[in-house]
Amino acid sequence: MKPLILVDVDGPLNPWAAHPKPPNYRLFEIKVGWRRKLRIWLDPDHGDQLRQLAEEFGAELAWVTTWMHRANVEIGPRLGLPELKVIEFHAEQGWKYPAVARYAYGRPLVWFDDDFGLHRDRNREFVHKRQPLTTALIHVDPATGITGQHLGEARKAFSGNS
Ligand SMILES: [Mg+2]
Repeated sequence: MKPLILVDVDGPLNPWAAHPKPPNYRLFEIKVGWRRKLRIWLDPDHGDQLRQLAEEFGAELAWVTTWMHRANVEIGPRLGLPELKVIEFHAEQGWKYPAVARYAYGRPLVWFDDDFGLHRDRNREFVHKRQPLTTALIHVDPATGITGQHLGEARKAFSGNS
């Protein structure tokens, strides 16, 4: 069964809390609605890094983000990522956990997100129910975005016991 690599946008790819932004990041202004523009920072190398990680473990990359399908339009192409599966979720129904549990089912997973601190009970329940499958919830500080250290954690999780 193909392992899964789940990627959130704000925090892991767009380090919104970093001041100043780390080197490598480029500013993009994305239209959201008639007049509003959203400023986001992306590191174009993240695309290659994620693809490489997926290739190494024969894994599938998927989005789990409030950007939902716009991630494939606004984020993926700017990082050189192909269109990815979008895991749709309802924030009020246990945040991302129920949707991820359904989609991942019996597959090992690593997941990059900056919000595992929310919904702690759900978090524990999610991990517990998936035992003994690999479930690596990799917290990414929104002040750094995904770094080599996070990618290393993902590799370790997949090679450990999947
Ligand atoms: Mg986030």
